Amino acid sequence: MSKTVGTIWNEALEFIKDNVDEQCYDTWFSPIKPIKIQGTVLTVQVPSKFFYEYLEENYISLLKAAITKGLGEGAKLVYSIVMENSYDNSTPPTMKLPSSGRKKHRPQSVNMPVALTNEKSIKNPFVIPGLQKLNIDSQLNPNYTFDNFIEGDCNRLARSAGMAVGKSPGGTSFNPLMLYGGVGLGKTHLAHAIGVEIKDNYPEKTVLYVSAEKFTQQFIDSIRNNSKNDFVHFYQMIDVLIIDDVQSFSGKEKTQDVFFEIFNHLHQNGKQIILTSDRAPVELQGMEQRLLSRFKWGLSADLQKPGLETRVAILGKKLYNDGIEVDQEIVEFIAYSINSNVRELEGALISILAQSSLNKKQITMELVKSMVDKFVKSTTREISIDFIQKVVCDYFDMPLELLKSKTRKREIVQARQLSMYFSKQLTKNSLASIGQQCGNKDHATVLHACRTVNNLKETDKRFKTYVEDLQKRLTLA
Ligand code: ADP
Ligand code: MG
Repeated sequence: MSKTVGTIWNEALEFIKDNVDEQCYDTWFSPIKPIKIQGTVLTVQVPSKFFYEYLEENYISLLKAAITKGLGEGAKLVYSIVMENSYDNSTPPTMKLPSSGRKKHRPQSVNMPVALTNEKSIKNPFVIPGLQKLNIDSQLNPNYTFDNFIEGDCNRLARSAGMAVGKSPGGTSFNPLMLYGGVGLGKTHLAHAIGVEIKDNYPEKTVLYVSAEKFTQQFIDSIRNNSKNDFVHFYQMIDVLIIDDVQSFSGKEKTQDVFFEIFNHLHQNGKQIILTSDRAPVELQGMEQRLLSRFKWGLSADLQKPGLETRVAILGKKLYNDGIEVDQEIVEFIAYSINSNVRELEGALISILAQSSLNKKQITMELVKSMVDKFVKSTTREISIDFIQKVVCDYFDMPLELLKSKTRKREIVQARQLSMYFSKQLTKNSLASIGQQCGNKDHATVLHACRTVNNLKETDKRFKTYVEDLQKRLTLA
């Protein structure tokens, strides 16, 4: 073999590039580093065990085809994993795993090479002598499944990590699995979906979903009732513990202590922990360091705002599930107009459907437009000073620089005053900040402008029209 490992790998990458989309290529193949070739064995380095698992699960045939081109039949891939999330804080261990080359002939469920499962030695379920296996209600919402959690660029990592955990709770390196992201982006849904999936695959496992707030309340009650030990024991017997919105543990030291104790116990026994948070672990303030460092043991995956395509897909799925047919054009219009988060997208859809069924109206573009208008205005709209200035300048057909200049020409002063007036009315900016953004004036000038506009619109008919027109343009736009 005269070719270098670099050349061989680059050729393989070319082949892969032709067979997957760009996003997928960037996510799963670019980060792979070729290490060496020995005979027909190519060693590559991947950044995490999850990565390895994901490749094996989804791209094994593609990888095989790609390296066979360069190395011939009998080509083999060996992964070297530089683990980012090791158990202690010492240097990351490197672990070598042969690719399961004869994969196709093996059932899906035994994907995980023995080497991996041994590593954490998760053997028998934890059994406390004398105690019955728990029989508790999981508190899972059966409607939150993977099947109706639409995949998109915004959630791919979180979703696939969640699926991996669902297949093999406690058996992957994502323990804990921390899902984080802003409101309404699907953290709770995904957390339930993992639980539901685990219950499906392992009915005998004890799964528990609990909000961090409820956990805190239960803990406080247990102190009051002198039953803290029962509380701790109860939680220590769970196989899969899902805690939603852990940011609410912030500043609650005693709750964090007890959670820490439970966390350690579960983790040491190979039990799965799934957490959600409205911000990244590093941004969790008021959280004990030792707890934060535990969160980093596993995988933190974020949920982002869905792009247009994903929003369309989400709406499509909801409509389909409800058995309602709506023009694609209309679906796209809603998806286009509501881009804040999935909860609001759903909210808009629900109000449109309600409106149409209440009034027995067809879901027409007209109806949708008027509903979306109201919806957008009442929830997400925030008008900025920039936007106001732009609308005012458009209206008077004057360049923005003039508005911001020192000119004392009457029309320009008037336009400037109107911008200030509307900035005061429609934004939360202080007088000083409005003045500063409207040509570097002080707060007294802004106050004067507001008074002037108020006076003029009472006394000057033409001026009144300006105010009304602008008001319309600014609030309906
Ligand atoms: P969070 O917990 O992040 O605030 P939720 O999980 O409560 O958000 O999600 C809000 C709503 O949006 C839920 O009804 C959920 O089913 C829906 N949703 C969020 N993401 C998706 C998705 N990718 N596909 C389908 N529905 C989604
Ligand atoms: Mg939630």
